[in-house]
Amino acid sequence: MFINVNYPSVLLIYTGGTIGMIENPETGALENFNFDQLQRQVPELKRFNYRIASYAFNPPIDSSDMEPAFWAKIVKIISYNYDYFDGFVILHGTDTMAYTASALSFMLENLAKPVILTGSQLPIGTLRTDGKENLITAIEIAAAKHADGTPVVPEVCIFFENELMRGNRTTKINAENFNAFRSFNYPALAKVGIHIRYNEQQIRQPDTTRPMKPHYLFDTNVVVLTLFPGIQESIVHSVLHVQGLKAVVLKTFGSGNAPQKEWLIRQLKEARDRGIVVVNITQCQSGAVEMGRYETGLQLLQAGVISGYDSTPECAVTKLMFLLGHGLTQQEIRERMNSNLAGEITKHYD
Ligand code: ASP
Repeated sequence: MFINVNYPSVLLIYTGGTIGMIENPETGALENFNFDQLQRQVPELKRFNYRIASYAFNPPIDSSDMEPAFWAKIVKIISYNYDYFDGFVILHGTDTMAYTASALSFMLENLAKPVILTGSQLPIGTLRTDGKENLITAIEIAAAKHADGTPVVPEVCIFFENELMRGNRTTKINAENFNAFRSFNYPALAKVGIHIRYNEQQIRQPDTTRPMKPHYLFDTNVVVLTLFPGIQESIVHSVLHVQGLKAVVLKTFGSGNAPQKEWLIRQLKEARDRGIVVVNITQCQSGAVEMGRYETGLQLLQAGVISGYDSTPECAVTKLMFLLGHGLTQQEIRERMNSNLAGEITKHYD
């Protein structure tokens, strides 16, 4: 491959989703684009003095069909091309983008280059599309370097509507507005207006002495169990006894609290004794679990439930599947769930 080192270089990976759809002017139907069409729709791309190459999933997928095998495919593409590009932009449907961003943050260990996911709420071919802006800015961020040549944002991020967010901190919060993502528990890594203002102190610094190490394995024997007033013993029992179940993300109330039912605590203890890892995250969008704070949380701690701190549900699920995929023991998984692997949790709530 010929590499011109003078130009910033970005690899665009198109997985699917609304951003890559173009309205057929004759039929009005939404169709997937190819890269040539994209360049026609976004002529502004030519104004970048960048080398931009692309890889498109064939067929492109709606992000509701995203799954670990596709994450592995993305990681393989990044890994094969890692030395040849300054950064990577992944065009992805918005529905599961936060899951993909979380998963990639664990799969790309020691990442030292930008991997920026973006998408749009309106197809790139429509008049009021948010896709052009998102795409152009994501490319600019993926190529941004400090004066010494090091990348400005060597992380997996989501860029959407004026904000650059750490990927494993994001949640899709709106099915309609352009402003569709939030990072409730971690500040934006950049705000974009007339200027792109990076929040340098919040950006993770890679250990450049270690090479990027791609990971591919997941074990999906995980369930998310949301508590609610009136939840039934028989239902919790059934969920915790699903064959093959290895881990549970327990979505609790407030700062990590659960009903004070003897049967609930007993079932959680028994699950722990059967080797199942139960992680406590809050149903609140913002804030963290502190199980020592109320009696209703403390009892969970005593039942062997571990804290998910301020993790998003998307992050807790993907992190568990990732750790389980690596054949770790229950104890090792418990320890790693309580460790910050890729900036995904804040532990000052201990
Ligand atoms: N259903 C689409 C997807 O997630 C929505 C979007 O792209 O925003 O693939």
